[in-house]
Amino acid sequence: MKIAIAGAGAMGGRFGYMLFKAGYDVTLIDQWVPHVEAIREHGFKINLDGEDICAKIPIFFPEEVAAKEEKYDLIVLYTKSMQLDSMLETLGSVVTHEDTFVICLLNGIGHEEVVKKYVPITNILLGNTMWTAGLVGPGKIKLHSTGHVDFSELHPNGKEMAKKAVDAFNDAGLNAVYAEDVYFQIYRKATLNGVMNSLCTILDANMHNVGMANGSWQLMEGIVEEFAAVAAAEGVKFDKEEVFESLKSCFDKDGIGAHFPSMHQDLIGQHRLTEIDSLNGYIAQKGKEHGIPTPICACIAKLIHCKEDLLKAT
Ligand code: NAD
Repeated sequence: MKIAIAGAGAMGGRFGYMLFKAGYDVTLIDQWVPHVEAIREHGFKINLDGEDICAKIPIFFPEEVAAKEEKYDLIVLYTKSMQLDSMLETLGSVVTHEDTFVICLLNGIGHEEVVKKYVPITNILLGNTMWTAGLVGPGKIKLHSTGHVDFSELHPNGKEMAKKAVDAFNDAGLNAVYAEDVYFQIYRKATLNGVMNSLCTILDANMHNVGMANGSWQLMEGIVEEFAAVAAAEGVKFDKEEVFESLKSCFDKDGIGAHFPSMHQDLIGQHRLTEIDSLNGYIAQKGKEHGIPTPICACIAKLIHCKEDLLKAT
């Protein structure tokens, strides 16, 4: 299977490397000039569970791939949400071949609406992952621990490819599962991110400290209720009690609670734009469309945008 990874940062790098190592024909596609140049010059520097690896994986800018009219069996989309539209637009006809399938694994809700603008619905797979990865700098990523990835097709035409992709990802050790209800998984993870990523960023605190802060649990319950109400209006199954339990498990002082979520690392640490419009911002927007009040999510999305502005995030 000929696979391209469109958006080869931390997560695209992880998936790309694991598939490459398993023997698949992998091409990385990325728009960040220093990253592409570093990988071309020195190879992709990967620290995998403490072991330093240098992987010689071919990498191209999206414009180069489009100009060559390259053809792939599977294109894994792993940009940040605000980069998705321009990546697909630049790839042009590369994503519209009859035999090319595109799998979108970004965090957040509603990405299929963007993908559908460029890719026939028959060729779109959609999913969600619990793997993690860290970008250390241009051409360098750090990978540890384990995870899984769940996905399925948007249209019955994609079922065969979804199953083939599950097999390929499992060959690569990515613990892939054919999702029976992909929207359940997507909303579940987006809710956890819409609580922890947003609050840790606004409050500039780790997950334990946010969890212990006076009044924070009421705020969290309010956010979860808004995600649940929009999920119900969209016909998506939602398990509030399980989400509350998962949130509580993030407060563990000596474990995961010491962690600052990726939105905090991106915005506070590096002044990068956030994916808030695919999380709380999406819920606020959908709430409006359905006539459901979502004041907390709307306020959180605005606060994050103010912070982006104050920090001149790009
Ligand atoms: P990333 O920031 O590492 O990479 C995404 C894209 O941004 C890449 O094209 C990368 O080259 C580019 N980029 C990175 N730094 C840049 C800079 N300073 N200037 C310009 N471009 C830059 O993002 P990621 O962590 O791989 O996330 C991709 C998607 O996967 C997101 O939707 C994210 O929420 C989701 N996700 C991430 C993790 C994780 O642990 N990192 C886990 C699950 C899901």
